[in-house]
Amino acid sequence: MHVFGLIGNPVGHSLSPPMHEAAYRELDMDAKYVTFEPDPDAVEAAIEGAAALGIDGLNVTIPFKQDALGVVEPDELAARIGAVNTIDFSTSPPRGYNTDAAGVSRAFAHHDVSLSGTDAVVVGAGGAARAVAVTLADACNRVHVANRTVEKAESLAADVRADAPATVTAGGLDSLDGCVSTADVLVNATSVGMEEDVTPVPADLLHGDLAVLDAVYTPVETRLLRDAAAAGATTVDGAWMLLFQGVVAFERWTGRDAPVEAMNAALRAQL
Ligand code: NAP
Repeated sequence: MHVFGLIGNPVGHSLSPPMHEAAYRELDMDAKYVTFEPDPDAVEAAIEGAAALGIDGLNVTIPFKQDALGVVEPDELAARIGAVNTIDFSTSPPRGYNTDAAGVSRAFAHHDVSLSGTDAVVVGAGGAARAVAVTLADACNRVHVANRTVEKAESLAADVRADAPATVTAGGLDSLDGCVSTADVLVNATSVGMEEDVTPVPADLLHGDLAVLDAVYTPVETRLLRDAAAAGATTVDGAWMLLFQGVVAFERWTGRDAPVEAMNAALRAQL
């Protein structure tokens, strides 16, 4: 039997087990997806133990994505993002990847949104924003990072700018006023909208030529996405990003095309 899983703390409410197990059922695979919740100071031992036990692959979530970077051999993209969310134990040392980035680009592609040559705005400068900003800076013409804490936006923009062809700028949330009206793509990578029906982007800035992805997926339909739809924008909910990071992890571990529809149905049944 193949064993895959997730390490994080906490992982109790993770949507990854039903999503991956749906793929195993669909493809009639002899495989299990298990969650592990090690103590924060035992993450290195946990990853090394997983390799010793013959576990095939692990997803990594908060708060271990940065720790994992130092325990496995990260590929170039994971190193640039500064976080590993997928470990492949088929090599020694195990390899680390960041599939959140592909989650963003495949979520847009699935909605027929091309990022090539576009002007993009990322709201947020935390862990999710880092993966989003690196992904957009590799494809877009310009990327603006807007964050409540301006210093974090500037620091993220400086890191991203160093390795990407795009023009990357930064500012506070007030800088949204000057850039959303001309943008083609907007991604909310803050947690705003998760617990309350609020949005980080004033509705009057949104327009019909925008494609808007909200990384928040609880609720699936956030206030930002409702406002964006009302303005005539293309909307991409956060469950698509979550789905495709899982799809890419599955494909990396197994070398097979993921059964995207089955995984999507299982994911959405939980939301
Ligand atoms: P994080 O590292 O803690 O970053 C949080 C971000 O939200 C920071 O930029 C923070 O700004 C901003 N923020 C928090 N409260 C705010 C407020 N009241 N007003 C304005 N900005 C605020 O978190 P993360 O891991 O990046 O996660 C961010 C969101 O993305 C979460 O909702 C998470 O569930 C989601 N996510 C989704 C996926 C997916 O696959 N769909 C993947 C990863 C994460 P400051 O820097 O000023 O504090």
